[in-house]
Amino acid sequence: MKLGALLRLRCPICGKGKLFHGYFDSPVRCPSCGYFFMRESGYFLPHVAIGYAFTVLAALGSWPVLYYVVGIRSAAVTLSIMVAVALIFGVWFVRYSKVLWLALDLTLNPPQAEDFEPRGRRE
Ligand SMILES: [Zn+2]
Repeated sequence: MKLGALLRLRCPICGKGKLFHGYFDSPVRCPSCGYFFMRESGYFLPHVAIGYAFTVLAALGSWPVLYYVVGIRSAAVTLSIMVAVALIFGVWFVRYSKVLWLALDLTLNPPQAEDFEPRGRRE
């Protein structure tokens, strides 16, 4: 697995094919080496939990910054900013939560030859 390629949002196997079409969409398989990013249906679902955990951490982490560094004492203003941080961070982080999930899964289950075969999956 190529961690550097993942951080550049490229295929973790060959480092060439792009992991995303648009902002959120992943192709089913790597256009360069043919590796199926979608190893099974619902494969990317765990990224939602990863993204949620990091988004909560980012929102909660903004509280001490707002209180002690910026000096905001209004609960309403603090809460509004924390919600904005969660929304912006959540959208920005979607692709990286998928990348984290790919890195975790490929570490626990290294790619097999069958990950390059259609096995009835749509291409
Ligand atoms: Zn590839």
